[in-house]
Amino acid sequence: MIKEIITGSPQETFSVGEKVAVLLKGGETILLTGDLGAGKTMFVKGIASGLGVDPLTPVVSPTFTLINLYKARIDIVHADLYRLDPEGIFGLGIEEYMDNSHIIMVEWADISEGYFKGNLLRIKIEYLEQNRRKIILGGNIIREENWR
Ligand code: ADP
Ligand code: MG
Repeated sequence: MIKEIITGSPQETFSVGEKVAVLLKGGETILLTGDLGAGKTMFVKGIASGLGVDPLTPVVSPTFTLINLYKARIDIVHADLYRLDPEGIFGLGIEEYMDNSHIIMVEWADISEGYFKGNLLRIKIEYLEQNRRKIILGGNIIREENWR
């Protein structure tokens, strides 16, 4: 199913992430797309909060490391393909975490679109106005009954 949500602030996007976190069982790969500043990292922060990452743990795109790992109810792997070539994904070591005890979250996932398999949740964030974004969620875990 595809669900579209308009958010009017960063906090609202964070809250959508928290809401999606409740639906996660482990083993999902969340593919985030959207321009720079769309709110992909904000959404990852919401998921991290929803899964119980320690609030003191900084949730930011990996820069000096290839991936970030956050301990939580289900451990989170955070990758960002910005500035990587399509083959760059193979050097991150994500495969090692493709199991039911991890959630993999990838910003700029469209760069290596063909790489991802399994239980995918696609999240596209579109810039509408300064504080308004459209979040488009698509995947098996997105069901109408979860949004009432
Ligand atoms: P990305 O990871 O997609 O490059 P970030 O999450 O790092 O984007 O940054 C999004 C920026 O947009 C932040 O500065 C945030 O405060 C701002 N912002 C404004 N409105 C929203 C909104 N509705 N949802 C998410 N971010 C928003
Ligand atoms: Mg980002």
